[in-house]
Amino acid sequence: MHISAPHDSGNIEVLDASNAAKIRLNIREDGKAKFHQWFYFRVTGAGGQNASYAIENAGSSSYVDGWKDYQVCASYDLEDWFRIETSYEDGHLKFQHTAERDSVYYAYFAPYPTERYRQFIAELVDLDEAVYEPLGATLDGEPLDLFRFGEPADSKLNLWVIARQHPGETMGSWWMEGFLPRLLDEGDAVAMALREKAVIYVVPLVNIDGARRGHLRTNAAGADLNREWAEPTPERSPEVFAIRNRMDETGCDFFLDVHGDEAIANNFIAGSEGVPCWTETHQKRLDHFKDTLMALSPAFQKAEGYPVNAPGTANLKIAANQIGERFDCLSMTLEMPFKEANILPDPRVGWSPERCRDLGRTCLDAIWAALPGLR
Ligand SMILES: [Zn+2]
Repeated sequence: MHISAPHDSGNIEVLDASNAAKIRLNIREDGKAKFHQWFYFRVTGAGGQNASYAIENAGSSSYVDGWKDYQVCASYDLEDWFRIETSYEDGHLKFQHTAERDSVYYAYFAPYPTERYRQFIAELVDLDEAVYEPLGATLDGEPLDLFRFGEPADSKLNLWVIARQHPGETMGSWWMEGFLPRLLDEGDAVAMALREKAVIYVVPLVNIDGARRGHLRTNAAGADLNREWAEPTPERSPEVFAIRNRMDETGCDFFLDVHGDEAIANNFIAGSEGVPCWTETHQKRLDHFKDTLMALSPAFQKAEGYPVNAPGTANLKIAANQIGERFDCLSMTLEMPFKEANILPDPRVGWSPERCRDLGRTCLDAIWAALPGLR
């Protein structure tokens, strides 16, 4: 048996793979920071064998609550990802699997390698409705991609949507695979009207360096980008530096930052309650957006989520808080689960790429419904 981490987005450290009945693994830490939780690796020569895996440093991972009721994702073809029975005991994440084929992949969540991202955006770059605006380069020299939809005008609302500040939260990219094609659909009335009434700015993959390196949370410099929004720098957080500067030029009436949450087994939205400018109007906008999304999607709920910040205590280093305060606008973080969602569970695949795409498409309707109340 041979175990390896793919060059693009892979992460695993093999401690001992000499005995299929007792394979010992660790997750690598993000290069320059003490985070680990994301894993993605390939096993070859495993076909027909009942192999037993233990990730031994799961107990010291960044979000230990993430392992409760968690099932590992597996795939033979990198398209169909299914869950396998997993347990968390004594700090070890354990699973057994008899692979039906000689080559099998295991991951924390369906991976979204940067190569797939490049194929996805190659089509967007070619379309007239999507205007490509380069935002400079990352520390690893990758282009940071921004797409604009709709012609700018003073009278129009400016909407910003970004995903994958945290590279291990690949559900953000799967969500974009639903959101962006729908936004470009020529026969879709909501998409047409949105592009007419607003300008939509989208950064589909903020932390491309961290994604390729197989990081959970940080970029090439070891920065957690969602803690860099108060004082981003070109040296430490060029991704946030470039995006925030461009937002200062365009203005912002709506901000949605797409993430995944390790512990909570549901979709939810975190608002920017607790920012200094927060008023009843802000609360109404947030409630309206959540209620609309809940009416549109049975997969969305608002009973579970993060505790709300007390007035004046929001951390302005976090994107949604910084942007909510900076532009006095509706500003939110959307979180999707790594686990099977408690609402509409699907034991075979858990929360999955297809479910992410579906929610991405539906969010377009919720944004459309929010437009009249944004200014
Ligand atoms: Zn996140």
